[in-house]
Amino acid sequence: MDYNKMIDNLNKRVPKPVEETYIDEDGLMRCTSCHGKRETIIEIFGQSRKVSCVCSCQQAAALAEDEAIEKRAKMRKIEEMRRTGFTDKKLMECTFENDDGSQPKVLHIAKNYVENFDKMKEGGKGLLLYGGVGTGKTYAAASIANALIDKGISAMVTNFARISNKLQERFEKKQAYLDNLNKFDLLVLDDLAAERSTEYMQEIVYNVIDARYRAGLPMIITTNLSLETIKNPPNPTDNRIYDRILEKCFPVEVKGASHRRKNIKAEFENMKGLLGLN
Ligand SMILES: [Zn+2]
Repeated sequence: MDYNKMIDNLNKRVPKPVEETYIDEDGLMRCTSCHGKRETIIEIFGQSRKVSCVCSCQQAAALAEDEAIEKRAKMRKIEEMRRTGFTDKKLMECTFENDDGSQPKVLHIAKNYVENFDKMKEGGKGLLLYGGVGTGKTYAAASIANALIDKGISAMVTNFARISNKLQERFEKKQAYLDNLNKFDLLVLDDLAAERSTEYMQEIVYNVIDARYRAGLPMIITTNLSLETIKNPPNPTDNRIYDRILEKCFPVEVKGASHRRKNIKAEFENMKGLLGLN
């Protein structure tokens, strides 16, 4: 083996100095900035060779580059998790930062839920966000999912209508689909009851909630149903679903000014202005 050639090749792979350098009293190149060696003498089979080496500035630069690469990879992974987790892309915009501040109590609870997610996951503890239409329940649930994904924790935000479509598409793979939902650390089920008129839907809702329940994994459920209805359902067969929800999901009432109604009012005022009716 030609060691000299090998060393020459290795030498070429050491980054060439970018900062100013000078030659020290031993005739070796040094960095003007840190005064570290850029060249050194090695002995190999009785021969002395001058080879390039890195100073601490270059080591730091290489480390910073590694960190930047790692950070970019992490960001890519998080964006991938977000694309997978949000079946409705509009909900990707629901974040604590974009919150309009109309539900301070709910926002506070949502942030604490994220803060304490380790414990929530351990106990399979979720939330039941209930209240009128357009009060911001979906917003709060989606913000929690977004904040968890930012931390690298997986979350899926979906609803029963979508799950039902998926199951009809690939009925033979029903179990695989349900199992896949359990791969997410958090499952957000938006709009319980809105589409649960048939026995078939009721079965799907039960299957999804029961699978999550048995796996001991947390879920956040939003619903327009009142807590009273959930505690004492008019249809007693709903009990097996609601009992599981009440056992695992802490009820939080979301009430007050409706996001949607406020938007409609603003739109109406805007139209009045445009039509010269003010
Ligand atoms: Zn240096």
